[in-house]
Amino acid sequence: MSEAERIAEIPSVDFVDSLSRIVGGNHVFTDPADMSGYVTDWTGQYSGTAIAVVRPSDVSQVSAIVKLCGSAGIAIVPQGGNTGLAGGGVPSTSTPSIVMSLSRMNTIRHFDEAGRTVVVEAGVVLEVLQEHALKRDLLFPLTFGAKGSCTIGGNLATNAGGSNVVRYGNTRELCLGIEAVMPDGSIINTLHGLRKDNTGYDLKDLLIGAEGTLGIITAAVFKVFPRPLTRVTAFLSMASVDAALCTLNRIQDRTGQSVEAFEYVPQPVLTAIEKAFPDIKSPLQGAVETGVLLEVGSSRVSDAKTDDTGSTHLTTEVLTILEELMEAGDIVDAVIAQSEQQRSDLWRLRESVLESIMEYGASYHFDISLPLANISAFLEAMDATATELGFETLTIGHLGDGNLHYALVSPDRDKWQSLPLDQAKHKAFELLKSLNGSFSAEHGIGQSKLDVMRALKQPEQLNSMRAIKRALDPQNLMNPGRLVPMTE
Ligand code: FAD
Repeated sequence: MSEAERIAEIPSVDFVDSLSRIVGGNHVFTDPADMSGYVTDWTGQYSGTAIAVVRPSDVSQVSAIVKLCGSAGIAIVPQGGNTGLAGGGVPSTSTPSIVMSLSRMNTIRHFDEAGRTVVVEAGVVLEVLQEHALKRDLLFPLTFGAKGSCTIGGNLATNAGGSNVVRYGNTRELCLGIEAVMPDGSIINTLHGLRKDNTGYDLKDLLIGAEGTLGIITAAVFKVFPRPLTRVTAFLSMASVDAALCTLNRIQDRTGQSVEAFEYVPQPVLTAIEKAFPDIKSPLQGAVETGVLLEVGSSRVSDAKTDDTGSTHLTTEVLTILEELMEAGDIVDAVIAQSEQQRSDLWRLRESVLESIMEYGASYHFDISLPLANISAFLEAMDATATELGFETLTIGHLGDGNLHYALVSPDRDKWQSLPLDQAKHKAFELLKSLNGSFSAEHGIGQSKLDVMRALKQPEQLNSMRAIKRALDPQNLMNPGRLVPMTE
């Protein structure tokens, strides 16, 4: 049967009625205008069609919908805030699908102050959880530019990273357990918050990073951390990437691993930000070499104590290290935020980066990671190739994690069409292979990197992934055509 015949056979009215009976008619959208925000992704690059958008309010409704879709042979695309950058959270045009938005499952179910854990539903917006923890004088450290829209379910499904991974790890490392609906509609629950539980395969870790292809995450239990009592936030201009990494290690060694963020923002990106957001100014006078937004935080009372000049112990310690590194020639210039306002200005600059690059012109974004020692070799070789091929580059990254967001750009959108993008991609992936890097660091595979996954992931690993997918989702209804290329 052809795909079109299959679509034609779908009893869409009955099916939609059944969805409405599960969640209530107000929470099923079929009008294209109501569905439009759910079927196109944040970048505007990926768009599809859906039979309906359905918004369940609890795990039993999610389970009932999964069972209904199983019997009707209709695929499910789970969606949180729809801020994903890999096209994974929107349907295709060829497969009959529904979008399941978890946005109504937005309750923070339980806060365990003694155990320092919190149980949240998948649709909770990241920033809401951050604020909830702060009200209890605790920290939920996951953070990045989309925090006001992205959800916990999407964070888990993509194993999101962001700016604080250098200290606290990515989403996987913050999560102690999940509740999820599997492709057969069964509900698994590991929300006990145990820090040790060696009772077989870790299904939590299987679903984290699975991008909705193995089940729907409905809730999770996370660790929370002591809230830093004092922070030092600075913008540094350094002689080179290697000098920056030396600076990172020096500060880590001297502050007991207290670096919370070490974000790469070089001059071309600062220029692009100033162009896109004229009210944001470069923090330093003159051109910046290797620019880094540094944040060091401490929850130790002794670090928060102030001296006669009003500086905290932590500030004095960081200043001393920076001065030493300036004398050694590693740091060229630096500015330290003197107020909460200056700190938030620096973070606003960092979080405006992606939009500034998109505004700059046509672009292709690599989300890659490398061993720290190989970063400068990659940048040197890739920048040279890009220039030779006629591209400009705008590179930012979570430098402390070895994660670069490397963008090939052209301000001239017409010229872009004639630039040899495939050649540049080929060179980048070749370089990554030779330098032991990864072609996908934190944004996921979705549909944008499916071809790269097929071409570059070790075949033995791909085969194991296919076997897991077939075993758990034999009908291939959970976000099909995403993450794992099912054919060779
Ligand atoms: P969606 O976009 O809705 O979905 C993403 C994927 O998860 C899809 O495959 C979807 O099917 C699946 N999914 C969603 N919810 C569930 C669920 N409950 N169960 C199972 N599967 C589900 N990412 C980073 O890692 N680091 C960054 O620094 C970063 N910066 C960003 C900055 C900006 C400005 C933007 C727009 C995005 C950024 N991202 C970053 C990417 C994105 O925000 C993250 O991937 C985020 O985790 C996605 O969450 P979401 O709720 O929007 O998920």
